[in-house]
Amino acid sequence: MTPFTFNTTPSIVFEPEASARLGALAGRRLGPSILFVTDPGLRRLGLCEPALASLEAEGGKPAVFDAVEADPSRATLMKAVEAGRAAGATGVVGFGGGSSLDVAKLAALLLGSGEDLDQAWGVAQAKGPRLPLVLVPTTAGTGSEVTPVSIITVGDDEKRGVSSPVILPDIAVLDAALTLGLPPAITAATGVDAMVHAIEAYASRSPNNNPLSKMLARQALRLLGANIEKAVFEGGDIEARGAMLLGSMLAGQAFANSPVAAVHALAYPIGGTFHVPHGLSNALVLPHVLRFNAPDAAHLYAEIAADAFPHLSREDGDQGRCAAFIEELAGLSKRLGMQTRLAEVGIGADDLAGMAADAMKQTRLLVNNPRPVTETDALAIYKAAL
Ligand SMILES: [Zn+2]
Repeated sequence: MTPFTFNTTPSIVFEPEASARLGALAGRRLGPSILFVTDPGLRRLGLCEPALASLEAEGGKPAVFDAVEADPSRATLMKAVEAGRAAGATGVVGFGGGSSLDVAKLAALLLGSGEDLDQAWGVAQAKGPRLPLVLVPTTAGTGSEVTPVSIITVGDDEKRGVSSPVILPDIAVLDAALTLGLPPAITAATGVDAMVHAIEAYASRSPNNNPLSKMLARQALRLLGANIEKAVFEGGDIEARGAMLLGSMLAGQAFANSPVAAVHALAYPIGGTFHVPHGLSNALVLPHVLRFNAPDAAHLYAEIAADAFPHLSREDGDQGRCAAFIEELAGLSKRLGMQTRLAEVGIGADDLAGMAADAMKQTRLLVNNPRPVTETDALAIYKAAL
């Protein structure tokens, strides 16, 4: 018997237009004064308005903080906390992509407990209690609404994380209607990121890899694999959008408890140094990392290949099915119109050694990889991806 622990968001609402009933769904939990954390783009598009109106209709007073940027900084987080304090916040709503949700999680923590952020970095260091917290994702990819993690940029380029079940929200509200207008490039990159979460969670060597994560990863791949092309090319299809939102949440639940590995570790230097979006960074190294892992993980990839791509059930043997799975993933990025070579995002041969050294710093991720990765291996993987 292998012991494990599984934590997730206790209440999940999956319903088109649910954000327009946010007040009825969550108003009582949030209390009268609500810090509403979002980004300027969503505010301009008017996507927040139905949620804000419904909070007001239930007697809430939302204070909107709409200054969250991509890869949010510590300064932004502290401004959000300040806004919450000024408003006497009794609850926090995070509304947006992974960045807004990450800021909302830590704002709820710092407002609720008054603890020092510098004592909270790392795994299980955050103490709480936090303020009541409701997260409403507007992209389908990060799964942040069900992960106990928040990533903040400190100083120029350093990303630091808080990982603690304390920052899992009380309620996640999944409203697929909010994702209908996402442009194809973002839909593709975030969708592939969600697939990577499921693949890496399934094959993770984490001692906490567990039957729930494996089951969730497989169902995530079924939903994501069957719907990603439709969501990219027919963005107005609410069924496909709903499947992507649900699939990315299931993948989030999987990797929140069976963490991701070398694809993410090697993607970080691409995102950090060259400011390539997270999902695209993952897609660029995905087939190359899986090929590297295949000697140790072919049987695992073979198990999930037909979940993502049903026709692969016809492939015989672990090796054949694994190889076909990797080719399908590489082909998928191309079909979705994503860049597929590091050179296409401005990375040159001279950059690779530094990136490999950087990737080795992601020890918390690399320990979960099914095959040990050395710096020489990382460099070879980048070379293959150039
Ligand atoms: Zn990711």
